[in-house]
Amino acid sequence: MLIPAFQKDDALVADVAQFRHLTTGFRVWWLGQSGFLVQWQGRHLLLDPYLSDSLTRKYADTDKPHTRLSERVVDAARLTMVDVVTSSHNHTDHLDPETLQPLRAANPGLRILAPEANRATVAERAKCLPAFPVGINDDGQAIEIAGFTFLAVPAAHNQIERDEQGHCKFIGLVVKFGPYALYHSGDTLWYPGLEDLLRSHRVDVAFLPINGNRPERRVAGNLDFDEAARLGRAMGAKLTVPHHYHLFEFNTEDPAKFAQAAQQHGTPYRVLRLGERLDVA
Ligand SMILES: [Zn+2]
Repeated sequence: MLIPAFQKDDALVADVAQFRHLTTGFRVWWLGQSGFLVQWQGRHLLLDPYLSDSLTRKYADTDKPHTRLSERVVDAARLTMVDVVTSSHNHTDHLDPETLQPLRAANPGLRILAPEANRATVAERAKCLPAFPVGINDDGQAIEIAGFTFLAVPAAHNQIERDEQGHCKFIGLVVKFGPYALYHSGDTLWYPGLEDLLRSHRVDVAFLPINGNRPERRVAGNLDFDEAARLGRAMGAKLTVPHHYHLFEFNTEDPAKFAQAAQQHGTPYRVLRLGERLDVA
């Protein structure tokens, strides 16, 4: 049986809509894998959504089956409030044509932010002109879209990789809005200096992967649950929220292990269920 969503479809869309006009704080919904919807001052930012079954279909009948573990929380076509969507790298669970195309159709003003290095792939998957995506690089240049200010941080998945122009192919994002700062890791290992880089941004909520780096999976790896708990603490995040689990059978982790590690290391944390809301005052 699939892991049921905490809330999905109509209930999720209604939950997002009911706080639309709230001018205080911000809210975040976990949409599965590395996908989060952020709501602030009536604006909506969607980070790394994967809301289809494209990978399960692609790898069916191969030796790398992507067996789904949990319910999808919402159809991308129902997210009609999105101002900006981001992609941290080109892997399909972070840049999915079957999510981006209906999302664009549902949001005529939608902007797409992704690594400059990935422009051609983003355009192909989102079915837009190559000039359309907003490219970001880890050169310290901040980019503002819809009131959200983005800064790219290199991600090591498993290495920090650059194209011939020196543009980073795998990134994490620091997002600032009003008095707040978020860090969305994308997919990354803990490389030397990452915690110092992040500490300077005084992050309120850090979204960190917990599925680990295990070569037998034959996919690029991530922080494991213990590293995520330690990095959240080391970077001084006010809250750490785990992601990258409960989607595919071959590449998951038990968030209870993260919770236990966070308690051990004194890391403030919150484990969200699928479709669940986090309120930040
Ligand atoms: Zn991933």
